[in-house]
Amino acid sequence: MSSQADPSRPRSLESVANWDLEADVVIVGYGGAGACSAIEATRAGAEVLILEAAGGGGGCTAMSGGHLYLGGGTRPQKAVGLEDTAEDMYRYLMAGDDGPDQAKSRVYADESVAHFEWLVELGVPFTDAIWEERHTLQPDDACLIWSGNEKAYPFNQVARPAARGHKVAREGEAGAELWVHLSAAVEASGARIECDTPARALVVDSDGRVVGVIASQQGRELAVCARRGVVLSSGGFIMNRDMLRNHIPSIHQRLEHVEQHGNPHDQGVGIRMGAGAGAAAIRMGEYFITVPWYPPASLTYGILVNARGQRFVNEDCYHGRVAGAAFEQPEGKVYLIADDSCFGWPEMGFELAATEGSVEELERALELPATTLQHTLSVYNQHAARGEDPLFHKHPNWLKPLDQAPFAALDCSLGRAPYIAFTLGGLRTLPSGETLTEQGSAIPGLFAAGANASGITRSAGTYCSGQSVGDATFFGRRAGRSAAASAPWR
Ligand SMILES: Cc1cc2nc3c(=O)[nH]c(=O)nc-3n(C[C@H](O)[C@H](O)[C@H](O)COP(=O)(O)OP(=O)(O)OC[C@H]3O[C@@H](n4cnc5c(N)ncnc54)[C@H](O)[C@@H]3O)c2cc1C
Repeated sequence: MSSQADPSRPRSLESVANWDLEADVVIVGYGGAGACSAIEATRAGAEVLILEAAGGGGGCTAMSGGHLYLGGGTRPQKAVGLEDTAEDMYRYLMAGDDGPDQAKSRVYADESVAHFEWLVELGVPFTDAIWEERHTLQPDDACLIWSGNEKAYPFNQVARPAARGHKVAREGEAGAELWVHLSAAVEASGARIECDTPARALVVDSDGRVVGVIASQQGRELAVCARRGVVLSSGGFIMNRDMLRNHIPSIHQRLEHVEQHGNPHDQGVGIRMGAGAGAAAIRMGEYFITVPWYPPASLTYGILVNARGQRFVNEDCYHGRVAGAAFEQPEGKVYLIADDSCFGWPEMGFELAATEGSVEELERALELPATTLQHTLSVYNQHAARGEDPLFHKHPNWLKPLDQAPFAALDCSLGRAPYIAFTLGGLRTLPSGETLTEQGSAIPGLFAAGANASGITRSAGTYCSGQSVGDATFFGRRAGRSAAASAPWR
C-alpha cells in the first residue's frame, strides 16, 4: 500500500481476503495512551496487539518532561501538607470559558488519586517533595510543582489552589523514566508489539462496526483483525502541515516562528482514521503554546505589553496561558518590561529589546506610540503600590511598583522568542474511550485516547503542564478496558 493512502478512507470488510494478524484488541500507537491501554486490556483478559509506526515505543510521552496533572489528595500532596480534594480539582478543571468536558473532568478528578497509586504500583517513582518556586519544570527530582493557573485570577476565585503537577522522580526531563516503567509493564503483560508497522486505515463492516486495521510492514500491507475493538492512540498532528493549514491557520501561517513540539509521527493519522469511520473530530483548532519567559520567577513582577504599550494578561498566570494571549497580540509584538529590582535572564533564548534609564526612553527605543508605555506603567504603579491590579487581577504577592531605573524590555515577540506548540484537538470520546459520531452515537469497535482524542486538555488559555500525559495515561487505561469488554464480532 502506498504511504500516500488516505487514512480517512476506511476499507470494507469485504475487501479483506484474509487476516494476516489477529487479536481481541488492536492498539494503534505505542506511547503513553497505547501502553496504558494495553496494560489494562491484557489485565482484563484480552489478547492485545500493538501497532507502532516508529522503530520503538514511547512517542511524545517518553520525550516529555514527565509531568502528570494529578490531585485530590495524592500521597506527595499530603506529605508536603497540601490540602486538595477531588471537588477542588474538578472545579479547577471546569474553570474557564472554553467548554470543558464535564464528564471527563469529573471522573478524572474523582479517580486521580487512584491513578497515581496505579502508576506507583507499576513502579513509577515519585518523591514526596515540592518545588515551590515558579518554574516551567523543576530541575531536581521533586515531585510537585504549581504547573497551572491555580493561584492566578480567575482560577483562584473558583477553587482552592493546590499544586498538582506531579513529576516522575528524575532530575530534569522525566518522560523517559516514566516510559521505562510503562513499557516494562506492557512487555510483562504479554501484549504483542509490532514496531515499524504504521497503521494506514480502519476496516469496517457493512453496519459501520470497526473490525480491524490495515497497516504496512516492510512495504507489505497487513490486514489486522480486531475481534473486540481498535484503540486509536497515535498522538496529535502538530507535524502535519496540511492539517495545521485546515484547522489551525494561525499556527500554520507563522510556522517559521513556532517550534512544532512533537515527534515525526504526529501526523494525525489516527484522528483521520477515526473521522473516516464516522467519529466526530472536535476542538481541532485548539493548541497548547508556550514561550517560557520564566524562571527567574522575579520577572513575574514585570509587566507584559503589546505593540500599543498595553498590558493584556495577568503576568502571574502559567506560561502557556500567557503565551496563548501573547500569540494573539497585534503584529505578534510583546515585551516584558522589568525594572532593576526584578530583572533576570530567562533560561532559554530571549533577547533584550532595549534597556534605558527612563520609561520614556524605553518607550521610544521600542517604537511604541508616544506616552502609551508611560501611561501603562503609571497606572500599574499607582495600583501596585496599594497591592491592587484592577485591570487584570494579578495576585498582590507579585505586585510592586516598577520604578527603579534602569528599565529593560525583554523581547517576547514572535520571531524573536522561542514559541513552542502542539495540538489539542481530536476525536470525540466518552470517558470510557468510546468514540462518538456528530450525532452522539458510539461507533462499535472504535475507541480513542491520548492526543488522538479531545480530552481534559482544552485550549491554550486553560492548559496546565501534566494534563496531556495525565489524560493520555488515565483515559488510555479506560479505553483499553472498554475495548477488552466489548463483545467480539467473530
Ligand atoms: C518535548 C515535549 C515535552 C512534553 N512534556 C509534557 C509533560 O511534561 N507533561 C504533559 O502532560 N505533556 C507533555 N507534553 C505533551 C505530551 O507528551 C503528549 O501530549 C502526550 O504524551 C501524548 O500521549 P499519546 O499517548 O497520545 O501520544 P504519544 O506518546 O506521542 O504516542 C503516540 C505513538 O503513536 C505512534 N504513531 C503515530 N502514528 C502512527 C500510526 N499511523 N500507526 C502506528 N503508530 C503510530 C507514534 O510513533 C507514537 O509512538 C510534551 C510534549 C513534548 C513534545
